[in-house]
This record gives sequence, structure tokens and C-alpha cells, in this order.
Amino acid sequence: MKLKRQYQFWFCIGSQDLYGEEVLRNVAEHGRIMVDKLNAAGVLPYPLVLKPTLIEAAGIRRTFNEANEDDNCAGVITWMHTFSPAKSWIQGLKEYRKPLCHFLTQFNEEIPYDDIDMDFMNENQSAHGDREYGHMVTRMGIERKVIAGHWSDPQAQQRLAAWMRTAIGIVESARVRVLRMADNMRNVAVTEGDKVEAQQVLGWQLDAYPSSEIAQAVAAVSDSDVNALVDEYYATYDIILDGRDPQEFRRHVAVQAKIEIGMERFLLEKDYHAVVTHFGDLEGLQQLPGLAIQRLEQKGYGFGPEGDWKTAAMVRVMKLMTAGMKDPKGTSMLEDYTYNMVPGKEGILQAHMLEICPSLADSKPAIRCLPLLMGNREDPARLVFTSRTGPGIATSLIDLGSRFRLIIHEVDCKRNEKPMPKLPVATAFWTPRPDFKTGLEAWVIAGGAHHSAFTFDLSAEQMADWAAHMGVEAVVLGNDTTIRGLKQELQLGSLIYR
Ligand code: MN
Repeated sequence: MKLKRQYQFWFCIGSQDLYGEEVLRNVAEHGRIMVDKLNAAGVLPYPLVLKPTLIEAAGIRRTFNEANEDDNCAGVITWMHTFSPAKSWIQGLKEYRKPLCHFLTQFNEEIPYDDIDMDFMNENQSAHGDREYGHMVTRMGIERKVIAGHWSDPQAQQRLAAWMRTAIGIVESARVRVLRMADNMRNVAVTEGDKVEAQQVLGWQLDAYPSSEIAQAVAAVSDSDVNALVDEYYATYDIILDGRDPQEFRRHVAVQAKIEIGMERFLLEKDYHAVVTHFGDLEGLQQLPGLAIQRLEQKGYGFGPEGDWKTAAMVRVMKLMTAGMKDPKGTSMLEDYTYNMVPGKEGILQAHMLEICPSLADSKPAIRCLPLLMGNREDPARLVFTSRTGPGIATSLIDLGSRFRLIIHEVDCKRNEKPMPKLPVATAFWTPRPDFKTGLEAWVIAGGAHHSAFTFDLSAEQMADWAAHMGVEAVVLGNDTTIRGLKQELQLGSLIYR
């Protein structure tokens, strides 16, 4: 998927005029070289734009406000070349609203032992300036990312790149609009939540529409449009008839094509980027949206089943964060279904009735069309596949009544031990970290839901940074997790986040 905006990040260098014009010329020249080389390295997903060196309060304040106003600016990366008195930064920082990164770096990698003198020290004192500025940001309680390393170091560049994706998640979150087809499933707790709080804290707009309106948009799709898309399906996916008549099978598939086109037109027309459905309220739809939703998810729409708008919005945010990534491994809504508790082979089978995003698929998905207990409609067509393997993260945003918590679990996706020929849905299988039992207990103690927004392409650090900027508690479960430590963390969180 592609983002609508041409995002860039501003590179702002802190200095002062105490050391004269020549030093400031060198500062600007160093910045130019660094920005050019960082842009040319091909690691950063978005371009860096060098801004004039910041040396006094008025210029700093103006620059931060320009960053606020510039729709294409997704964040500011600050670097202290010299000592920059931090009182000059107070007003600008106070008024700044976008993601902020403090890059602890230096133009020269090595101390020039043979030539170093006090002139060099005065001109190149990042170690000094970093502390003055960093102290001020901490004192002001501003959430920012701090990344240390020489700017030519590939690891430092990768961390900058990862933070840029977090920043995109932050600025884009305020533009996420979820279309809720009907309301949440009755009696279910974890799919509920405070929608006003979600808009206030996370920026999400969450609007309900009667399912009949979406059904009308679907009914309006022409046969020729449907046929063209069905042809595309048949060219893209394997077909497993399961003994059905080929013509009858194709008619079932066409229903999903019609839903895909009609629903996407409705989403585009009304400017929504994520959608929830509810099997209990399908009005004029002939089938529960399966294949249709899977395709929309692959295009970058968020999705949550049974009215789960929190998961839909999280999937959307995470897809935005991975936008434009080279060889992504996939991002999808998933649901915990069944355990495998055999010692040494423990894990949790992930699936849903239908709607797993094929971006996770480890090989060509196949279309199958089989009965579904839920929904009281004809047999829905769906894409069936197994997921890729490797490390990923499952996130669950829960509403604790007075606030949100984001649980982020590091998991290892594995190949199923055996094929499951009678299971006609897409699946993943993972073992949560640090191990099956501790991970499982930790997820439940933290209050994690059965739906998650899962990705192979982002790290726990990125999602925790996203939550921190949003002011939402993040609970990371991973290799270091112990139940005792987690309980203490949750107790602490209950004091900090109210
Ligand atoms: Mn579900």
C-alpha cells in the first residue's frame, strides 16, 4: 500500500553563535553532508530535510511551529552539534506537537588524537550539548525517541528508520476512520470500548452505518465489474472445488467479488480506511464478507470482526507503519483459537471464521467455498493458506474502563506440525515468548483479548514507542517476561495511568 502524503522528516541541528561565523558554517556543512549521505544510504524509508541551524529561541520556536503546520512533515530529528543552551528550546518544544527524535551522534566518528585542540572541542561537543538539551526535554516531560550511534553506523540508521515508521503511525493515527457495519456482537466484552476516549486519545473516528446501506452499495455493482474481478481471482489464486459444481462455485465467488467492489466504493466515497463487520447483522448481503475482506485487508484497510473497531484501527495503523516496506512479511487481524499443549510442540492456532489477510501467506492462497455455521447466509468463499514463519508481534488494545492499555506480545510463528485438510480457513501457529505457559499466562493476566493485530514487520519497541507518544500504557511481553515482574508492572501502570 502507498500513503497519500509524501512524508519527510526535518533534521534540525542545535548550536549557538558563541563560537563565531566559521564554526556555524562548519556546523551547517556537516549537517548537509550527513543528511545527503543518510538519504543516499537507502536505509531510511522517508527523506530527511535539513533545516537552517537552530541557534536562538525565536528561530527554534518558528521552526517547530512550521513543522506543526507542514502536512508532509511527520517528525523532527534533533541533533546537538555544539552546546545549545536549552532555555532557548523551551517555547518551541512546548508548542511542538509531532513526533520528536533526539539523535545522539557526532560528525566525526573517532577522536582526532593527533590534532585535537580546544577549537575542535568547542566546535564538536555533541556529548556536551546532548545533555543540556536532553535534560530540558526530560524536565518538560516530553515523549521523544533517543537514538545513539554514529550516523554512518548501519544499526543506528536502522533504528532511525524504525522510528520513522513509528512516527508515521503517530501522525496517521489521527486520520484513521473506521466504518462500523452495524454494532458490536451482543454480550462480548473485549470488542467494546469508549469511542469518545479513542478519538480523544488516539484520534480515531468510529462511525456506524446500517448494514443495509453497505448492502445497497454492493447491490449496485454491475455484473461486468464483478466478472472482471472474478477473472482476476481465478488468475491469482488456486481453486479448490471440494466437489462443488464449477459453475455454482464461481457464482459463490462472484458474491464476494461484488462485496469487495461495493464495500470498497462505499469506503472510498465516505473516506474510511478500516471496516468492521458482524455476522449477526448482514442485512442484504448474501454471504458473510470473507474473500472480500481478505482482499481489502491486503490493500491496506484495517479490519475487525464482530464489530471490533479497536482491532480494525490497530490493523490500519500497523499497515500504515509498514507502508512501502521492501518485502514485507505481512500484517493481519488474527484470533486465538486452539492450543497445542503437547510438550515441546506448544503453541496457539490462530485463525478466524474467514478474514485473515493474505499478506501473511507463505504460498499461493486457494479459494474454497464451504458452509459456515455463523451468519445464517449461503456458503462464503474465502482464501485459505498458512502463514509465513518467524518472529512477529501480536498487539491487543484493551479498554480498562477508564483508559486503554496496549499489550504487545513477541511471538514465534511456526509451521504447523501436520496439515489440517478439514480446516477451511487461513491459519497461523505461534508460540508466545518467553515460553508457551508463561506467555499465555502473561497475556491473560495483562487482559489481552482474543483478537489481535499481528505483524511480522514491526517490533515491540516500535509499538511501545507509538503507545508512549499516545499516552497509552504499553505492556510488552517477551523474552524477559516473568509473571512476578509483570504483576508489578501492571500495579505500577495502574498508578501512573488513570
Ligand atoms: Mn472473532
